[in-house]
Parts: sequence; structure tokens; C-alpha cells
Amino acid sequence: MSTGKRWGVLAVLALGVGTFFALGLGRYLSLEFIKSQQGQLEAWRAANPLVAALTFFGIYIGVTALSLPGATILTLAAGAIFGLGWGSLIASFAASIGATLAFLVSRLVLRDWVQARFGERLTAINEGVRKDGAFYLFTLRVVPLFPFFLINLAMGVTHIRVLTFYWVSQIGMLLGTLVYVNAGTQLARIDKLADVASPAVLVSLAMLGLFPLIAKKGMDAFRARKATRRWKKPARFDTNLVVIGGGSAGLVTAYIAAAVKAKVTLIERHQLGGDCLNTGCVPSKALIRTARLLSLVKRAPEFGVRAAHADFDFADAMERVQRVIQAIAPHDSAERYTSLGVDVVMGNALIVSPWEVEVTQANGDVRRLTTRSIVIATGARPFIPPIPGIEQVEVLTSENVWNLRQRPGRLVVLGGGPIGSELAQTFARLGSQVTQVEMAPRLLMREDVDASELVTARFRSEGIDVRVNHTAKRIEVVDGEKVLVAEHGQREVRIAFDALLVAVGRTANLKGFGLEELGVATGRTVEVNAYLQTNFPNIYAAGDVAGPYQFTHTAAHQAWYAAVNALFDPFKKFRADYRVIPWTTFVDPEVARVGLNELEAKEQNIACEVTVYHLDDLDRAIADGETQGFVKVLTVPGKDRILGATIVGEHAGDLLAEFVLAMKHGIGLNKILGTIHTYPTMAEANKYVAGNWKRAHAPQRLLAWVERFHAWRRR
Ligand SMILES: Cc1cc2nc3c(=O)[nH]c(=O)nc-3n(C[C@H](O)[C@H](O)[C@H](O)COP(=O)(O)OP(=O)(O)OC[C@H]3O[C@@H](n4cnc5c(N)ncnc54)[C@H](O)[C@@H]3O)c2cc1C
Repeated sequence: MSTGKRWGVLAVLALGVGTFFALGLGRYLSLEFIKSQQGQLEAWRAANPLVAALTFFGIYIGVTALSLPGATILTLAAGAIFGLGWGSLIASFAASIGATLAFLVSRLVLRDWVQARFGERLTAINEGVRKDGAFYLFTLRVVPLFPFFLINLAMGVTHIRVLTFYWVSQIGMLLGTLVYVNAGTQLARIDKLADVASPAVLVSLAMLGLFPLIAKKGMDAFRARKATRRWKKPARFDTNLVVIGGGSAGLVTAYIAAAVKAKVTLIERHQLGGDCLNTGCVPSKALIRTARLLSLVKRAPEFGVRAAHADFDFADAMERVQRVIQAIAPHDSAERYTSLGVDVVMGNALIVSPWEVEVTQANGDVRRLTTRSIVIATGARPFIPPIPGIEQVEVLTSENVWNLRQRPGRLVVLGGGPIGSELAQTFARLGSQVTQVEMAPRLLMREDVDASELVTARFRSEGIDVRVNHTAKRIEVVDGEKVLVAEHGQREVRIAFDALLVAVGRTANLKGFGLEELGVATGRTVEVNAYLQTNFPNIYAAGDVAGPYQFTHTAAHQAWYAAVNALFDPFKKFRADYRVIPWTTFVDPEVARVGLNELEAKEQNIACEVTVYHLDDLDRAIADGETQGFVKVLTVPGKDRILGATIVGEHAGDLLAEFVLAMKHGIGLNKILGTIHTYPTMAEANKYVAGNWKRAHAPQRLLAWVERFHAWRRR
């Protein structure tokens, strides 16, 4: 709503409320007044029934819409003047319409502001209202503890639909209205409002209000029972927990279960360590290291070395990647987990009932385990888009690219996300002629424009042919020459290549291990609630297969919740906490982020201040010749509370840790500024961005006075 309109609504509101109090109209909304005028009011209603009903209806709506005190008295008056039937009808509709008008005023005037200011903290409330808003509203309406006008105003700032608010209010207030209208028919017997509803009536209303919530919980329990009804629950269980998948999520789940002395079986069909160790984070970072060294050799003159030459062989670099994997593998090995108390089984898992998992081992042996709970941690795999002609070429993905021992000459990287960008720059630095094709208008679309522009400029300066706004249409092979045909604007662009690396997203592994047969709800991922629980109460999911994030650290984070909830529900369970999630894209310069960026703040209409510090000012960055980049922090307007940070630059991923800690524990920019940072380090950039923020908030008036004080001292 525009500011002008908002002020208009506020002016009307102020006029209404001001008039009410200025003219002392409140005296007409007292029990004494209604009692003293009951005779005249009844006579007036008898003489002009329609006019009386409409006038009363209008007054009631006005009082409730303006959130004025007096709704209870008016409900009693409805009974006194119109009797139980008509009085209830009039009061019920007037109260609901008035409440909806007050709700709309709150929505128009307050909602944007409240959501912008507190949106982040309201996430759980917004989610609760989205899912069960009608139930909550009903309870609030029926339980007589919650003031009528406050409910209208509070609900206005949520996202509940107007129509839902109206009808739930009408039904929810009906019983209370009947009680008060009925009491109004006996007005002479009432000396004070407390006489209207006895404690027994109040308790009954409270019970009634809680009924739908209790009923809903009951329905959830019933649905859960229904889901498992087809299978016979074993009398005893072999194990407390079976974890399917030995990647980041599965390993951490098993580790936690063993740490709390549960009996846990971890099943892995391929390689322990999953994607991160074998085909993801570890190999990519190992190869990035070699590529970085080569890029520095190329930049030798910048560092005062007249010429440098790298005697480099691609196959050696790829072998090093395997050595790095082997060096880290013991952390994720069967030996280590067995020594921790985990029963590690190598084989293909199949869920055959909510409490039974079958494992087919490599030698053909089949083992069936009964378990109290299951955690699905089967991860994800690269998505290969159905581009016509793609079957004619061998497609490289993050899974098989590590098998290469011959460097591709002309490499097309399809995808401008984190994985595509990391691999595009790496292969370019290793000597491939890389064309990166992205259908979106820029690389790293989730990041702010300035971050992705900086990365794109660097890519281009390193010789990568970055093609944004290019949509892959088909692949042709003509006389052995492979060509990607992409659409750019209205025309077709042909890009010849020797190898094609596809990195356009990852698909959750949902098939082939019993989910469909069992009826576990899935969409793009396994559907889970806030506790990471599927529609089967004892089956949980974590990691890439559950989403919404696809990082090793989020997989490990979710694993804790999945393990604890799977082992301790129904005694205790925890909602997965996604408030502070960091990530880094390991391109050079690195792009690291936690919390909101400018793009999201705009999309979600969240007010924020943006403070930037550029690395070309930082001593260490200058000394290292790594001046590209910035630290950008979003804060609550006028406050130092951090909403998010984006860092682009050398070691951005490491620098981010300070902001992750700050956000997690409510540390503001003032405290970061007041913390000693070692000189000269890149980490000083965090302090300097806090300094920029502080300068922008310097108390100018106070400083003017201090200046006068110093001038006086010089006299
Ligand atoms: C190239 C690349 C680079 C990446 N870089 C980073 C990074 O720098 N930082 C970061 O945080 N993340 C990174 N990621 C993402 C990270 O690898 C994943 O988010 C993480 O591995 C997810 O862990 P997970 O346990 O959910 O799944 P996975 O690691 O995929 O593990 C799933 C396991 O389940 C097994 N499995 C599946 N089905 C069955 C079955 N029926 N029976 C038995 N076992 C089964 C699989 O064999 C697999 O081992 C990267 C990913 C890629 C591809």
C-alpha cells in the first residue's frame, strides 16, 4: 500500500477514535446507561424495527472496526433490545464484519511494516498461520482470554486470507455471542459484566476452543496410524535405527545415534563418504588447488617474478585428486564407524515395511533387519536435461569427470550455478578452452548482481567464453564434429566442442529402494515436516534427498535432527533450525554468503541497510595482489543487527565464519568493530565493514558538541 493511502486510512481512523473520546461517547456504552435506557430502546425498536436493527448494526460495526471499547456491552444490548434470536443474528454478523474491517485496517497499515521489520523472526509464525491459521484463529476466538480487538489487529499482520478470517471469526465467536446476547435478555439481573459468564461457562468455552487443535493432533496421529496399518509391526526390533546412505547426512546420523548409545545400522551401496568425499566437495577442491597454482604461475610477473613455467600434466593432477580422496577416506571409513559402535553394512537397501529394511550385499546375501526408525539419506545425482541429440555424445557430470586422464580441448560447461562455475574456471585454468553456457541472464543467479558480475568479469579475463541468456536447444554431430546449438535472443548460436560437462542441477535419489511401494510422500525431494519426519512417523530423511539445501554442512546439520528425533520421538523432538545457513562457491574470487542478500531483501520486501567495504582498500589484500572483491553486510535499519553478509574475495568462505557466528548468537556490528583482528589479515575486512557502518551512524549532533568542547579547551 502506498504511503499516501496508508496515511489516509490512519487519518480516518484517528478522526473516528478522536471523535469518540472527544465527545465522551464511551458513556453510552456502559452497562448503567443501557440498563437505564432499556425501556426507551425497546419502545424505539417496537416502533421502527428495521431502522433500529440497521442503526444498531451500523454502530456495532463502527465500534468494532475502530477497535473501541464497548463490544461486550453492545452484545448485551443486542439481547436486551432485540431478544435472543434477532439479537444473536445482528451481533454475530456485526461483530464479524467489524472485526474484519479492523483486521483489514491492520493489514493495510501495519502488515508491510511489521513483516519488513520482523519478517525473519516471524518465519515460524507465518509458517504456522499458513498451515493451521484457521485452527489457531478459532481457538483464539473461542477461548475468552484473548481480547477481541487484539486478535483482529494481530491477525491482520499475518498472511491469513481475509475470507478465512471472516468465516472462522463468525463461527468462533458464535457461542460467546449467544452467551452474552442471552444474558442481555435478562439485563435487569446483571450488575456487572463478570456476572454474565460464570467460571464454568468460561472453562467450557476454553475447552471448546482447544477442541479443534486437539482434534487436529488426533487426526495427524490417525493419518500416521493409517499410513502404517497395512504392515504388521514387529514385536521386537533388531536395531533402534537403520540409516540408508553413507554420505554426509547418513554418516553423521549414524555417528550421533552411536554416540547416544543406540543400536544403529548404516547401509551404503557404493562408497562411504558419498558424493562429498568421492565426487563432490573433496575432488573439486583438490583440483581447484592445482588450478589455482597454475593461475598464480601465469600471474608471476604481477609478483615480481619475470617468468615462470609450470611443467604440468593433466593426468598427474587428476591422480592427485584421487590421493586426496584416499587421504581423507579414513575419516568416513567402515573401520572408523565400526569402532564408534555403528553396524556398517555394504549393500543395496530396500525398505520393505515401515519397520523392515532388506539389504542385498555384493555377494548376493540378503539380510533383513527390523528397526524402530529409519533415516533416508540417499543423496542426489546430477540431472541430465533431455536435450535432443544429447545421447550422441558422452556426457561428463560431477560424477564421472574425475575419471578423465586426458584434458578436454574445447569444453562446454552447461550450467552457471556453483558446480558449473567451479568446474568451468578449474578446467580453463588447467588449459581447456571453456565455453560456459547459462540460460539465465547471469552466473550464480542466487547471489547479488555485483557478486556475479565480479565473477563473470574474472572468468572472461581468464579466457572463459561466458554465454549467458543462452538456452541449449539440441546437440548435433556433423562429420564427427560435436556442436551445441543454443538459442540466444531470437537466433541460434552454434558452439563446437570436444567434451560436454553438464551441471544444471541435482535430482534427489528417490527411486529403487521402496519409497513408492511403501507410499512415502515425495515431490522433487522426500517430503518432510519441520522435524524431518516423512508421512510415516518413524521414517525420517536428511541431506540432499530431503533438501531444501544441498550442502555437506546442511546435510550434517539435518542429520543431528533426524537422528535425535528418530530416536527420541515421541518423548522429545526438535524442529530443524534453518535460520543461519552459510555457503560458499569456491570460484576465484570466492563467493560466500550467510542470511539475506540484497536480492532476497527486495523480493521479500524486507527493509535493510547495506554497508560495503571494498577489498582494494585492505592492506593484506593489496600485499597479496588479491584486491578484487568486497564485504557486504545487511543490517536492520538504524541497528547493528546483521541480517546477512555476502563476501566476494580471497578466502571469502573462511572470512564468512565471523558473520555466521555473529548471526547465530546475536552479535552486532558494534561488537565486531570492538574486537581486535590481527594485522595484516583478510579478516580485518570484517572489522572495516563494521567501521563503515559505524561511520554512517556517527552521532553528528553529539560530535558537533564535542568539537565545541575541544575548541573551548584550546582557548
Ligand atoms: C562437484 C560438487 C561439489 C560440491 N562442493 C560442495 C562444497 O564445496 N561444499 C558443500 O557443502 N557441498 C558441496 N557439494 C554438495 C555435497 O556434496 C552434498 O550436499 C552432500 O554430499 C550431500 O550429502 P548426502 O549425505 O545428502 O548425500 P550423498 O553424499 O550423495 O550420500 C548418499 C549416499 O547414499 C547412498 N545410497 C543411495 N541409495 C542407496 C540405497 N538404496 N542403499 C544404500 N545406499 C544408498 C549413495 O551411494 C551415497 O553414498 C558439492 C557437490 C558436488 C557434486
